[in-house]
Amino acid sequence: KPSSRITGIVPSGKDGWEVHFAAWARKEAGEDIIMLSVGDHDFDTPSETIEACVAAVRGSNHHYTPLPGLPRLRKAMAAASSACTGVETTPEEVIATPGGQAALYAAVQAVLDPGDHAIVVAPYYATYPNTFSAAGASFTVVETPAEDGFQPRADMIRAAIKPNTRAILINTPNNPTGAVYSREPLEQLAEICREHDLWLLSDEVYWTLGGGEHVSPRSLPGMAERTLVINSMSKSHGMTGWRMGWLTGPEKMITLLINLNLVTTYGLPAFISIACTEALEQHYGVKDIAERYAARRTVLLDAVRGMNDVTVRGSEGGMYVMLDISDVEPDDEKFAFAFLDKEKVGVMPGSSFGEAAAGHIRVSLCQPEPVLREAAARLRRFVSSYR
Ligand code: PLP
Repeated sequence: KPSSRITGIVPSGKDGWEVHFAAWARKEAGEDIIMLSVGDHDFDTPSETIEACVAAVRGSNHHYTPLPGLPRLRKAMAAASSACTGVETTPEEVIATPGGQAALYAAVQAVLDPGDHAIVVAPYYATYPNTFSAAGASFTVVETPAEDGFQPRADMIRAAIKPNTRAILINTPNNPTGAVYSREPLEQLAEICREHDLWLLSDEVYWTLGGGEHVSPRSLPGMAERTLVINSMSKSHGMTGWRMGWLTGPEKMITLLINLNLVTTYGLPAFISIACTEALEQHYGVKDIAERYAARRTVLLDAVRGMNDVTVRGSEGGMYVMLDISDVEPDDEKFAFAFLDKEKVGVMPGSSFGEAAAGHIRVSLCQPEPVLREAAARLRRFVSSYR
């Protein structure tokens, strides 16, 4: 019989993904579908990174690596963490993991015992609930109101705290809303963590793709000792398939987590680690990718801002924009299916990411500008003819 730990992990299965799967099936069948439901780059990894990897493979980098990551990789990750969080970070305060998701898994395993409780700020990335389930922990979802641009609300978070609450998980810049959390709500959140002795798990994998100031809660007073930051090369460096991320936190906790790597990854691939080190040190692709997404966001939002009955919410950073379409059709799933049927554009219904995003659609920016322009034109036509 399988363990309850493993059967407790259930793929999200929310109906919203049906739209994505339908769009995918029609595209595979040869239809001219614009896929704006997925969150992976439409371009390859920068060529310098690929060359670094090829050179590393041709060298004799075919052996085990240290559990927390190669020393030079940890040093490069620490430098990236210093830039991301605004807190000077040492190599001993970071541990390499196979992607941001594994960093999140490590963070949850590190701070929650079975039976403990966490607060997940929503709308959230699809894997969050299952990552807590896998630790045998319970969680409460606290929404961020759409009318506040999906910024976290301290009063709502405070109200969800239980005697066994140990951690709060946030994500800024946010998937799916594109909200970039501002300093004030983060300061209030930090105050709650200090007051109730909670860990703050902060997913900052989109930090280079933000508009405006990226505030990492790790930089707020008294927070470096109770914050674990999830980072990844997937988004910032165009490396989703390479599986490299890292966790940043207090040295004592990171040292303990080396033992988790002992029983899970047993170290990361040597040549991937070497390519990632060079990509971090030389910032391969980072500026270009950030500029690309910023330009795409501008193209899409400029087109949408001229439309009646469609309101932009959040959408300041990351790889997505959130559009409030409730004045056109309150049922976002119905809207998304009809948009796919009539105009052949696949988007995600907001409700698949939580209640606060109901009445919205999430539009991915993972297509070139001309495709986004065409999608916006189709949206305009769809909205103006919708009955
Ligand atoms: N966190 C967020 C908010 C994400 O959107 C994603 C991927 O889409 C991840 C973490 C995991 O990314 P990876 O495991 O590729 O680093």
